[in-house]
Amino acid sequence: AEQIIFAARPKGLPDSKTFKTVTVDLPELQQGEVLIKPVYYSVDPYMRGRMNDTKSYIPPFEVGQPIESGGVAAVAESMDSNFQPGDLVMLTSSRPLLPWATASIYNATHLKKIDNSVPPSYYLGILGMPGLTAYFGLLDIGKPKAGETLVISGAAGAVGIVVGQIGKIHGCRVVGIAGGTEKVKLLTDVFNFDAAIDYKGNQDMKSSVAAACPNGVDIYFDNVGGEISDGVMANMNTFGRIPLCGQIALYNSTEVPVGPRVQPIMITRSLLMQGFTIGNYASRFGEGFKALVEWVKQGKLKYTETTMEGFDKLPEAFLALFAGKNQGKLIVKV
Ligand code: NDP
Repeated sequence: AEQIIFAARPKGLPDSKTFKTVTVDLPELQQGEVLIKPVYYSVDPYMRGRMNDTKSYIPPFEVGQPIESGGVAAVAESMDSNFQPGDLVMLTSSRPLLPWATASIYNATHLKKIDNSVPPSYYLGILGMPGLTAYFGLLDIGKPKAGETLVISGAAGAVGIVVGQIGKIHGCRVVGIAGGTEKVKLLTDVFNFDAAIDYKGNQDMKSSVAAACPNGVDIYFDNVGGEISDGVMANMNTFGRIPLCGQIALYNSTEVPVGPRVQPIMITRSLLMQGFTIGNYASRFGEGFKALVEWVKQGKLKYTETTMEGFDKLPEAFLALFAGKNQGKLIVKV
């Protein structure tokens, strides 16, 4: 099988030296084991953090070992009566990430079949980690109320697009920030956002946000950080909430980023800012999944994906996240 291994820890933006393709021989399949081949992979911004050798909520990638990410696979051969060739599977939560390998062998106890009444890639996006992140981050920390103004950075991505629509379901006025005129149009025309700001075409974020939010900002769902967030923070209303979901603008920085200190604004406006990782909500995934499925079936939650094709495209797809090449969830179809 071919594997894409983590070849070297990057400084700044990863590049071709970060990844290496190798060929390995797989052992013979034993009783109780299943040979699986990937069908869809998710590439996610948090994987950049795993490339640094620092303490985090998830261990760093090991140099010389395959990269791993969320994935859906198909059974190719089975020595377990519960799995037949062709079954679509995901790895169970004790070891949920799929190695970047064209084939791998698992004990059947590590696999679960997925229900194919929705497109299988949805389990990596709207009904998977990004969808749950949007659901719990917005509802548990953002606590949206009808009539409030919700601003989202990284709004046209996997998480952001879901946050905005859940905000609409809860009666908020929803304003998205994303890069480029095409994404801004997607947000307002397809996903019903009330307004959207193209940060690439608007250098002064503070006044762009003020213009798009005449009543100020009650909730800021932050996927991005950096100067975009500095501009939004200046527009926060008293008792505003800030779920800190991601800081992708900073993931490749090689220096400690310095910006306006937000503490004075937070004190004088009684703001609440809380970081979170989706794992905090593991015991409530069932609740989130049920709500997301329901909204998808009712047509209240729409979705879009950007799909790149081919196992060898995985590194390029991962890097595309940092160039903003995706609309909605970025998926690699093998
Ligand atoms: P996206 O689908 O949103 O893809 C990343 C997007 O980030 C790009 O499309 C791009 O959009 C934007 N981006 C990239 N670089 C920059 C930059 N320098 N400045 C501003 N925007 C940038 O990814 P996800 O929806 O999967 O993740 C969104 C955020 O949420 C990430 O920060 C991620 O780490 C975080 N996250 C956190 C989780 C948690 O548990 N806390 C779980 C899942 C995700 P554009 O064209 O608009 O620039």
